[in-house]
Amino acid sequence: MEQKRELDYKSLIEELEILCEKYDNFNYSYIGESMLKRPIPIITLGDRKAEKSVLYVSTHHPQENICTTLMLSFIKEYLEAYKSYRQLFSINLHYLYKMRKIYIVPMLNPDGVEYRLNGIDDDNPIKNRVIAYNEGENDFSKWNSNARGVDLNHNYNAGFEEYKEIEKQKKIMAGRSKYSGEFCESESETACLCNFIRFHSEELKGVISFHSQGEEIYYTYKEKAPDKSKHLVNIMERMTGYKKSIPEGTASYGGLTDWLISEFNLPAFTLECGKGKNPLPIENSFSIYSKLRELLFTFPIFF
Ligand SMILES: [Zn+2]
Repeated sequence: MEQKRELDYKSLIEELEILCEKYDNFNYSYIGESMLKRPIPIITLGDRKAEKSVLYVSTHHPQENICTTLMLSFIKEYLEAYKSYRQLFSINLHYLYKMRKIYIVPMLNPDGVEYRLNGIDDDNPIKNRVIAYNEGENDFSKWNSNARGVDLNHNYNAGFEEYKEIEKQKKIMAGRSKYSGEFCESESETACLCNFIRFHSEELKGVISFHSQGEEIYYTYKEKAPDKSKHLVNIMERMTGYKKSIPEGTASYGGLTDWLISEFNLPAFTLECGKGKNPLPIENSFSIYSKLRELLFTFPIFF
C-alpha cells in the first residue's frame, strides 16, 4: 500500500477511474471547475438516501498534497472493507454505508498542485502574470496558492475584511501564499465548494479540512466553537494522538472551517496532518494514514 509518488491531477483521476471499474458501488462526480477549468472531483461513500452526512476536504494548499493520498487510502480501505463485509473499529461497514454519506473532495486546488508538480503550461492564459507572482521564477515548487495567486484557505467569508487590513499592513499580494483574493469566494474553487455546502447544509453534520503539518486539530473560530466540537475534539485527540490547538496570527481568518463555524455553527475541524517540513515526503503517507484511519471511519457516527 506504499505510495511511491505524489498524485498530480491526472493520476488522481486515473486512480478514481480504476476504482470505478473495480467497485460496483463506487462513483464520483464534480463540484465544479477550477480557475483553469479542471473539473474538481467529489466522491460520495454511502447510500444516497442516508439522512446525515459529513464532508472531508483536502488540499487547499499544493504544499500539502500528501493529504490527497490520505483521502485515497481511506477510500480504498472503505471500499475493500465494505466489499468483504469487514468490521473496522467495531463499525459494520454496511451499517455505515446505509446510515451516513461521506463526501470527499480529495483535491480542491488542482491548478495549484499542477503548478507545483509539473510547472506552468505554455498555453496558460495568464502565464506571465503568474511567473511575476512567483517572484519571477519558473520553479513552482514553493507554490501554495491557486492558478492566479490566491490562497484558497483565506478566501472564505469569515473575518475577510479584518484580514484585508492585515494584508495591507504586511503588504501581502497575489503570489505563492497568504493572499485572500479580491473578495470572498472570488475563486471558482471556493465558490463551488461553498455552493455545495449551502445546498447540503441541512444534512451536513460535520466537516474536516485536511492540511499539513504539525499533528494538530483546530476547532475554533475567534476562540469560539460549537458545544459539540468542544466535546468531540477531546475524542479526536485520543484517537489520533494529535493536539487540539487555537490558531494564531494570519492563520485565523478566511479559512473554510472559520466560515463553517461562524456561518452554520457546524462542528468543523482543521487537521494538520503529519509532522516535519512541507511538503512532507510521500513515503510518510502510510504512517500518517495509520494514525488517522480510526477517526476517518468513526467521524461520521459522531453525529
Ligand atoms: Zn494548509
